[in-house]
Amino acid sequence: MTIALNLDHATALRPSAQRATSLVGLLKPEIAAALQNIGLDEREARMRAKQIWNWIYVNGVTDFERMTNIQKGFRQTLAEKFILDRPEIVSEQVSSDGTRKWLFRFRDPQNPRLPPVEIETVYIPEEDRGTLCVSSQVGCTLTCSFCHTGTQMLVRNLTAGEILGQVLMARERLGDFPGGARPDDGGLVPGGESRAITNVVMMGMGEPLYNFDNVKQALLIASDETGISLSKRRITLSTSGVVPFIEPAGREIGVMLAISLHAVRDDLRDMLVPINKKYPLKDLLQACRDYPGLSNARRITFEYVMLKDINDSDADARELVRLLAGIPAKINLIPFNPWPGTNYDCSSSERIERFADIVNKAGYASPVRTTRGRDIYAACGQLKSETERLSKKDREALSA
Ligand code: SAH
Ligand code: SF4
Repeated sequence: MTIALNLDHATALRPSAQRATSLVGLLKPEIAAALQNIGLDEREARMRAKQIWNWIYVNGVTDFERMTNIQKGFRQTLAEKFILDRPEIVSEQVSSDGTRKWLFRFRDPQNPRLPPVEIETVYIPEEDRGTLCVSSQVGCTLTCSFCHTGTQMLVRNLTAGEILGQVLMARERLGDFPGGARPDDGGLVPGGESRAITNVVMMGMGEPLYNFDNVKQALLIASDETGISLSKRRITLSTSGVVPFIEPAGREIGVMLAISLHAVRDDLRDMLVPINKKYPLKDLLQACRDYPGLSNARRITFEYVMLKDINDSDADARELVRLLAGIPAKINLIPFNPWPGTNYDCSSSERIERFADIVNKAGYASPVRTTRGRDIYAACGQLKSETERLSKKDREALSA
């Protein structure tokens, strides 16, 4: 069963002709600097920044009026100067397996006259965890041939505030903020964990390493212990293999890494994941070996989409194991998820089992990823939005 509920846009829309600065997505010292800019001295700015941060990330507050440890007069000043931006929810769909997908809408932070953009975010509840799959870009510059997002040209990068906005909205909808009510249509993480969202994966729309600064800022905020406080071990960044940014990702962000490998030979990977022409397998695997903090406790996940008669032979499986020898690795076999217009098919379940068997025998445990949310088009690689890139002429006209 699929429930699609369209929420009332009017409640989420705010008049944003003149955009004030949003404090969502700023690091604590940046909030303090913004407060100094409106006249606070350094000490008070630092103190107020801490309080505001706590309201945004721990309590999920979207209205300065609710910041009760700040005097009323100053709350009003804050509301005049700043906003606490969140995306609008265009739709929320719940799959028969409890997976949820949101279509979120963002206005352009620099230019509110430009049409808003839309992206998708997915929540996957499992026995022992609840994973939020977050987007980093509207569309993608890359054109992996089996990926639906790859058919949508890059419209723009999301800001750090917009990346975090997905986490904040999902937490709100799932009752993760204090006093929040859990939705009653099932599918949330049962017992044990008190939070619905325990893990975040940067596996939604876009290539996170082509939006490095914003992704870094958002993930540093999401993992800050005084805020959302997600452990860096519970955050995974997936890349198609933007080699020059892999080492900085480990050093400056320090989250878990996933590599979209999908092929074990350069000629095939050039076709499936075209960035391979720029950064071939040898360079990619070397960057993996050099990933800061890599150990048996902190392995790299190699994702491998199972495409019928393309990359799913026994020889491919054996070569996969050989290629990864010596790298602390997990292997994740992803059944291909079809989308309208694709020419690929998913490997048969017998083929996937046989492939997994070879990989299992080499010491990698239960590597096949369960497909979730296919009925609502929420599965890996199915995300796409209707937002289109404007021509340069149109952008200029709207910016004038
Ligand atoms: N751009 C990043 C992260 C987003 S995609 C990357 O490519 O890693 C998340 C994962 O889903 C990637 O491994 C991607 O290759 C895979 N994927 C894309 N399309 C898919 C499809 N149709 N079926 C299954 N997996 C797919
Ligand atoms: Fe972009 Fe990742 Fe899709 Fe490739 S698989 S087109 S990098 S989103």
